[in-house]
Amino acid sequence: MPELEEVLPALAAEMADRDDRGEVASYIPQLSIIDPKRFGIAVALTDGRVITAGDADESFSIQSISKIFTLTLALGKVGDGLWRRVGREPSGNPFNSIVQLEREHGIPRNPFINAGAIVVTDVLLADHQPREAIGEILRFVQFLADDESIVVDRDVAASEKATGFRNFALANYMRAFGNLHHAPELALGVYFHHCAIAMNCRQLALSGRFLAHGGRLSQDGHSVVSNERARRILALMLTCGHYDGSGDFAFRVGIPGKSGVGGGILGIVPGIASIAVWSPGLNENGNSKLGSIALEKLARTMNWSIFAP
Ligand code: GLN
Repeated sequence: MPELEEVLPALAAEMADRDDRGEVASYIPQLSIIDPKRFGIAVALTDGRVITAGDADESFSIQSISKIFTLTLALGKVGDGLWRRVGREPSGNPFNSIVQLEREHGIPRNPFINAGAIVVTDVLLADHQPREAIGEILRFVQFLADDESIVVDRDVAASEKATGFRNFALANYMRAFGNLHHAPELALGVYFHHCAIAMNCRQLALSGRFLAHGGRLSQDGHSVVSNERARRILALMLTCGHYDGSGDFAFRVGIPGKSGVGGGILGIVPGIASIAVWSPGLNENGNSKLGSIALEKLARTMNWSIFAP
């Protein structure tokens, strides 16, 4: 197998040279000021090693990648009952689409599109003040990454709140169908804050280890979720983790992944690695353009695929 210590720096150098970097998200003003030239990658292997290259120690807004962690917490709280309020099918629509919700009576297609993630956040808000729910999510991420320095970027949260008209529309719409149990501004307050968690690639790769280890923090470490639950979360990442680009990501990269509009992607090679990549420019589906390309190249070089024999 090629050595990651050589593969990753070469990949980072190749990505640094590319001009076709996509467009940085501009609908959240605080994200539009990020330098599109950034590229970082970190691979946390199940043998405990973490190998990084490029801007792997620079923090970025994890945005929708946080939806993996909120889904995990919500399943822990209400179990399979969650699936009465959220579906498990790819949406085939943009992440912030509103059209499907009307036809499907306020039940979002999956927990990773915005509407679905807002319902998941609403579940976490039960019996909590918004501040407590945000704290619970942040502490969970800190625990997974074994790093208490991870914080919420309050400027990003405020910036999204000021311009999040579509998310307010989605939340109000679901409230009208009875699928949001708290006031839209409360659920969205928590949602904007968990999307605004800032991490670097190294921290993000570490926070995904439990999914690479069948639900355990490390090979013989704490069990975070059952093996079956880890597999199901990975199945959702594969089918829904890149919105209407999920099929193409599965086709080109061949591993479960979850993207965010901050330009990050968390990819999991079960039993082998948790990979975090970051490049702020996005493709037409709102997924990191160079991040996807880099993961495709890495997976091919290492022969990593959930479909490999
Ligand atoms: N916070 C972003 C939003 O709600 C998350 C979207 C994303 O990362 N795809 O629009």
